[in-house]
Amino acid sequence: MKKLVYVDNNATTRVADEVLEEMLPYFTEHYGNPSSMHTFGGKLYRKIDEARAKVADLLGADHSEIIFTSCGTESDNAAVRGTLEAYPNKRHIITTRVEHPAVLSLCQYLARTGYEVTELHVDNNGLLDLEELRSSIRQDTALVSIMYANNETGVIFPIEEIGEIVKEKGITFHCDAVQAVGKLPLDMSKSTIDMLSLSGHKLHAPKGVGALYIKKGVKFKPFILGGHHENNRRAGTENVPYIVALGKACELAKKYLAEEQTRVRKLRDKLENEILFRVPNARLNGHKTFRLPNTTNISFEYVEGEAILLLLDEVGICASSGSACTSGSLEPSHVLRAMGVPFTAAHGSIRFSMSRYNTEEEMDYIAEHIPPVIRRLKEISPYAAEIEKLELARKG
Ligand code: PLP
Repeated sequence: MKKLVYVDNNATTRVADEVLEEMLPYFTEHYGNPSSMHTFGGKLYRKIDEARAKVADLLGADHSEIIFTSCGTESDNAAVRGTLEAYPNKRHIITTRVEHPAVLSLCQYLARTGYEVTELHVDNNGLLDLEELRSSIRQDTALVSIMYANNETGVIFPIEEIGEIVKEKGITFHCDAVQAVGKLPLDMSKSTIDMLSLSGHKLHAPKGVGALYIKKGVKFKPFILGGHHENNRRAGTENVPYIVALGKACELAKKYLAEEQTRVRKLRDKLENEILFRVPNARLNGHKTFRLPNTTNISFEYVEGEAILLLLDEVGICASSGSACTSGSLEPSHVLRAMGVPFTAAHGSIRFSMSRYNTEEEMDYIAEHIPPVIRRLKEISPYAAEIEKLELARKG
């Protein structure tokens, strides 16, 4: 069988064995509806609350502050829309140019329906100018929604500093922490964050479950209406197996958090250093220090990211590129464009994102395969002669 080296963990992660084992009986043996009057269903409330406590524990929150959702996208939508509904007279939203579409597309849609949206800029390292944030806040700002860590570059924003600026003005602060939860230590009991989104499949739970933290006292109107589930904050019969899975994944994430900061970071650094050393004109995208420990985003100038991915796929390496190839266009990513990464580099950007299941041997395998792949693509490029001239000129 072809070797598989999976380094696309910011896209999704493998479900941990312990998580799968914990959730399976809730499909077959314990399949009741938690809202039922009989014990068979009703007893499942306790299991949901156990999972809620585990999510809360990872976040340093109270269990009453957690609601379960279907995914990170729903959590983001619930936070943004739930806040706007709670403040109907406020029509201004602040976000950033580098948010995930779960926030950015929603804000752009809201802008078309009469809201005013400020999208904060980032610099070449992917960092915000906090003075721009401060001066963008208005009397009618309903919400500031800023991500914790970027899914493409791993760049981490100074969330508590941001939160202090936002909270000085008494405005609700939502943070999309889908990429941060399980990778960085978080403590909502000491945080300025009012609402925080997370997603199960980024931390070794299955796809299709997420959670939203809502700090006690924060004004919020439910986004999905129906029954009285989740304390009237998110209607819909609870997805018990997946909620159980998310609880277990959060328990494990807490256990492995230190490893993420040490072993996984070392793997990432090793791979990154090897690639930057071995490949001429490879460049790192995003701030070198303020970054998730598992992510590296590297541009290979003058080659197409999709072509790199296809050749890597042939040798079993799964990574992702910074072009929105899924949309059918080959536009470079909005994140790299916002950072001012040159077109020729943005097109050839590849993200490698590791997890606790990766090994040092896998990093060696990738580092060995990248240089010949890039060399081959440059050689077969219709601009091969120009590329060679440019690279020679750079070498000086
Ligand atoms: N926010 C960020 C930063 C993400 O990386 C993602 C997924 O890639 C999402 C939100 C959406 O999460 P989900 O896939 O669970 O809807």
